[in-house]
Amino acid sequence: MKAVTIEQGDTGVTVREVPDPVVGPEDVLVRTLRVGIDGTDHEVIGGSHGGYPAGETYQILGHEAIGVVEDPNGSDLQQGQLVVPTVRRPPPDGGTNAYFDRGEPDMAPDGSYVERGIVGAHGFMSEYVATPAEFLVPVPDSFAEYGFLIEPISNIEKAIEHALATRSAFEWTPESAFVLGNGPLGLLAVAVLTQDAPMYDQFERGYCLGRRDRPDPTIEIIERLGATYVDSRETPVSAFKAAHEPADLIVEATGYAAHPFEAITALAPNGVAALLGIPDDWTIDLDAGRLHRELVLENKALVGSVNSNIPQFERARDSLTRMPEWFLDELVTGVFEPAAAPEAFADDTDAIKTVIEFDTV
Ligand code: NDP
Ligand code: ZN
Repeated sequence: MKAVTIEQGDTGVTVREVPDPVVGPEDVLVRTLRVGIDGTDHEVIGGSHGGYPAGETYQILGHEAIGVVEDPNGSDLQQGQLVVPTVRRPPPDGGTNAYFDRGEPDMAPDGSYVERGIVGAHGFMSEYVATPAEFLVPVPDSFAEYGFLIEPISNIEKAIEHALATRSAFEWTPESAFVLGNGPLGLLAVAVLTQDAPMYDQFERGYCLGRRDRPDPTIEIIERLGATYVDSRETPVSAFKAAHEPADLIVEATGYAAHPFEAITALAPNGVAALLGIPDDWTIDLDAGRLHRELVLENKALVGSVNSNIPQFERARDSLTRMPEWFLDELVTGVFEPAAAPEAFADDTDAIKTVIEFDTV
């Protein structure tokens, strides 16, 4: 079957034939429809994140997928059902794994999981994928085009859930949310937080940080979602509070290492910042005493968050249902066939989110 891979020693993707997946007794065979590309894929290609499956000279890329059940293989799923796979799997050496057993693979420490398309396992950028039914989330037929966004949205759902959980010991009435970053993850976070939904309608005012000149499609999206664009070159995160208002919730999606610390100052008393960015090593100067004091005296919290579990995928499915069609059309700037994968991965400043389409329903 056709697959998009990174070969050991290469710096760009390859489109090649690979063996069809081996369908184990527990596995469902899925025909791939679309697989999204994100910054993590670029880090895997660049070698700064992830790693090859044991004994392989190549890795099939991709972890944001939507597919259709080709062979349910005795599971409860029906042939033709649309599904989204989760990313983490137990390591191949087996043994018991309490994190997976209790449905919390997203909380497993490094070394006690592999990630499909990222670390130690092949990804989903191939015509077919085999995986156990327990790692497949059924989605409606209408999700063939944009269902691959459920994986990144689920990362945001988890971050928000963990942030809200840190504020659950007292009566917290947040009104303002500030998303740092106007990449795909940041824009999806703005779309989630500006939704009219029980968990989110508490956020009456939304802001999103970028560092781009107008006109820019991401700024247009931010404003059309009803949020305010904040340019970090004019209003750094540390000056946000004075320029706008203290933020009750901050979702960091820049990977800019100073932002978590600047966010402490941008937060309102009792506020919380959820951190999603994954920077390389990066040394900064900061007044640790002032930030430490502010965290304590104003009951603020910083919480890091990675990956997501099945309930968070399900919540992401609901969030995606509520997202306006125009937003999804503007966010996904390129749909490429597998042969054009190198183009889909190219650095293009006008692109927001690109996707490889293997098949349609
Ligand atoms: P991108 O790199 O595409 O987006 C980051 C955005 O932040 C860019 O648009 C960039 O602007 C903007 N930005 C960076 N620094 C600044 C700054 N100083 N001021 C204003 N804007 C800034 O990444 P993604 O959206 O795909 O992901 C965001 C982060 O989340 C990444 O670090 C990624 O690795 C991480 N991630 C984490 C996950 C998790 O589970 N924790 C899951 C997926 C991703 P510009 O484009 O103009 O440079
Ligand atoms: Zn990702």
